[in-house]
Amino acid sequence: SHLPENIRAKVQNHPCYSEEAHHYFARMHVAVAPACNIQCHYCNRKYDCANESRPGVVSEVLTPEQAVKKVKAVAAAIPQMSVLGIAGPGDPLANPKRTLDTFRMLSEQAPDIKLCVSTNGLALPECVEELAKHNIDHVTITINCVDPEIGAKIYPWIYWNNKRIRGVKAAKILIEQQQKGLEMLVARGILVKVNSVMIPGVNDEHLKEVSKIVKAKGAFLHNVMPLIAEPEHGTFYGVMGQRSPEPEELQDLQDACAGDMNMMRHCRQCRADAVGMLGEDRGDEFTLDKIESME
Ligand code: SF4
Ligand code: SF4
Repeated sequence: SHLPENIRAKVQNHPCYSEEAHHYFARMHVAVAPACNIQCHYCNRKYDCANESRPGVVSEVLTPEQAVKKVKAVAAAIPQMSVLGIAGPGDPLANPKRTLDTFRMLSEQAPDIKLCVSTNGLALPECVEELAKHNIDHVTITINCVDPEIGAKIYPWIYWNNKRIRGVKAAKILIEQQQKGLEMLVARGILVKVNSVMIPGVNDEHLKEVSKIVKAKGAFLHNVMPLIAEPEHGTFYGVMGQRSPEPEELQDLQDACAGDMNMMRHCRQCRADAVGMLGEDRGDEFTLDKIESME
């Protein structure tokens, strides 16, 4: 791979970031975070957060204690388990107590497991200190734009300081928080991956600029994901006829961004409760009732 040596050393046993590692190491997600603090047009809240996951799946929400139990059961059953992520089903940092309690317990009770989290970034700056304390290895921020006019077409509202804020004003706050969070993480040496959802006619051209900016600020990887606009998932409600990108359009955009940035091309958009090697999902073997019956 073309990642710099110091970053390769950090991700060598991370199945998502190393082509070699993904054959030898396993990852899991625990779904401890049901709430969200923004609305994305592409989200259907009946399903997992699209920050990482593909739409159309719904994960069983666990308490932090249940999640820790599950991680230990999985680590005992799958020795290659090296990475634990929190990716939903809502925004992990919009549930700071649940997410941070889970990380706190795991960093104490399972110190060999690498921890990661994905977020829309709105609550990121206020969480950076805590994340650094629990030894979070890397953070994924979903950044779909750096221009509030474009943002207003993607995010109808945010919930901020106990108020609902709409339109360009909301998008501006979200963008500022994302960029500030990115800078704070990089300053602390925490790896940052940026996810972007490619929405044809909305932010497709703009994502080249996003790629340049996040690279300049020190993100180590950019992952451009396709909008999955299937009517049954309610994607882009209110915007009739919004389509997904064609595979060639996605590839062309990834190639265009690759001039500036390391691109991730094998992300599987795993569910918020995925378990196992990349590309496999053994979540059904480790449901809560099964884990509780193992005790
Ligand atoms: Fe949905 Fe995730 Fe967007 Fe929140 S951040 S609205 S859960 S896609
Ligand atoms: Fe890795 Fe992507 Fe799956 Fe997250 S969603 S665990 S980054 S492959």
